[in-house]
Amino acid sequence: MFLSFDVDAETAWTAPDPERYRQLVTMSFGGYEGRVGVPRLLDLLREQELKATFFITGWSVEAYPAMAEAILGAGHEIGHHGFHHIMPIPGDPLLIEEVDRGLETLKRRLGVTPTGYRAPSGESCEELRVLLKERGLLYSSSWRDDVRPYRHLLDDGTAGLIELPVTMTYDDWLYGLSQRYSPRPMFPAEHVLSIWKDELAETREWGGMVTTVLHPQVSGRPMRLRLLRSFLEHARAYRDVWIATGQEIASHFAACEAASKAAFARRDSP
Ligand SMILES: [Zn+2]
Repeated sequence: MFLSFDVDAETAWTAPDPERYRQLVTMSFGGYEGRVGVPRLLDLLREQELKATFFITGWSVEAYPAMAEAILGAGHEIGHHGFHHIMPIPGDPLLIEEVDRGLETLKRRLGVTPTGYRAPSGESCEELRVLLKERGLLYSSSWRDDVRPYRHLLDDGTAGLIELPVTMTYDDWLYGLSQRYSPRPMFPAEHVLSIWKDELAETREWGGMVTTVLHPQVSGRPMRLRLLRSFLEHARAYRDVWIATGQEIASHFAACEAASKAAFARRDSP
């Protein structure tokens, strides 16, 4: 299990409509992360003795440096999640700026050179796949096309990043926050727990991986955090489910890939 969180803070709300910055109550959903959500989740992870990856927008690091330092100080991985959480669109000059400004902010504020990237709004394009490789990222966790890690193959035929595919059923935004601009009601904990347990049970039998996409403004709310605690306790009770950061899983994949290439080379040599 790739245990990961997306820390968008207010950028979750301003990315689709920058004018929302004047709507202070809408903004306050994002403000919950630095104020309550992240500290509570860090407590939960400490209690469960787990390490996670936090994909964080550069803007959130600038706005809440103490929050970002607390994540890092607790030994979790910091991943790249854009700067303003702008969805990558081919040909958009903001695409490069989002990647570079995010990298620069993580380096300057936290001294971190991230190895992992998750695309804001989970979108990608060829230009972005190439750019991430050029900038030296090791892995991406944005795509939805597998239940096992794999290596991207770029349009030019060369190898791209390692992908740790996202499991949509573990996106808490679908069940929890009930978007301010959506009429959909929240899901009760029992329904979500049932979905999460079934997804994990079957994926485990397949020998695959699940990837969580949890947001502190959703899963940092009291009843959602209670649900997450139940789920993590359930997952840990299997005893053979490896719960890890993206960097750990991507490094493991890279080691397996190198070993299998070496085995093929030995087999092919006379
Ligand atoms: Zn996000």
